Amino acid sequence: MALDALITQVQLNLGLTADGIAGPKTWNAVYTKLMGAAPLGKDLAKIITDVQTKVGVKADGAPGPITWEAINKAIPAVNNEEQINPATTAKVDSRSENVISTLLPEVQPLARQLVIQAAAKGITIKILSGLRTYEQQDALYAQGRTTPGQIVTNAKGGYSNHNFGLAFDIGVFENGKYMGESPKYAQLGPVGVALGLAWGGNWVSLKDTPHYELRPDWAKNMSNSDLLAALRDRKSKGTSLIA
Ligand SMILES: [Zn+2]
Repeated sequence: MALDALITQVQLNLGLTADGIAGPKTWNAVYTKLMGAAPLGKDLAKIITDVQTKVGVKADGAPGPITWEAINKAIPAVNNEEQINPATTAKVDSRSENVISTLLPEVQPLARQLVIQAAAKGITIKILSGLRTYEQQDALYAQGRTTPGQIVTNAKGGYSNHNFGLAFDIGVFENGKYMGESPKYAQLGPVGVALGLAWGGNWVSLKDTPHYELRPDWAKNMSNSDLLAALRDRKSKGTSLIA
C-alpha cells in the first residue's frame, strides 16, 4: 500500500480533499507548506523537483513512494486525536468521516464499526480512501503513463472496486503516526470479515490488507472482473448497486 494512502495522509494533514491523487492542487499545497511561500509561476515539473530537493530525495521528477514517505515525514500530522465516543456509533473521527461520506449508505456503518471495533482492541485505524470517481481513477491510471510519477494502478475508471462506493482502505496509526506496514492490518482482517465485509488480505493473487469492500449478495460467487462488469452496467443504467 500504497502510494495513494501516503498521498491521502499528506492531503489530510494539509486539509485538502483526500483522494490519494497528487494533482497540481496537492503539489501546490505541499510546496507552499514546505517552502513557506506559494510556487508562483513555477510549472508542475519544477514544483515537484523543488519539493524532492527540499525533502532530501533524488530530484528525478518521478515522485513515488520514497518521495511521498519523505514528504509525509516532513509535513507534521495535524493534531486530530478525537476520541471515539463509545456511547454512540453515529460518528468516528472526522478524517474517517470525510471518507466514509463518499461510500454507499449500506457501507458507511460497516466502516464505522470497523474503526470502533479496532479501537476496542487497542488498534487505532482511520478510513483513508473510499470512493474514487471514474475521472479520479483515470487520473490515477494516467500517472506514470501520460502524466508524471510512477505507475500506481492497472485499473482505469470503472475497473477498480473503489469506483462504486463499496470499497475502502484503512490506515493503522501508532502514536498519531500513519503506519504503512503493521501486523495490525492482518489482526483486523477477521474483524472486518465478521462484519460481513470482504477483506483484501484474503485475496489469492494480490493481497491488499488495508482493503475492505462490501460484496453485494448478488455477487457472492462472482469473479472480481465479472463483479466489476456488472457494477459498471448497473451504474450506467442507474440501478441499485446493492439490491
Ligand atoms: Zn482498496
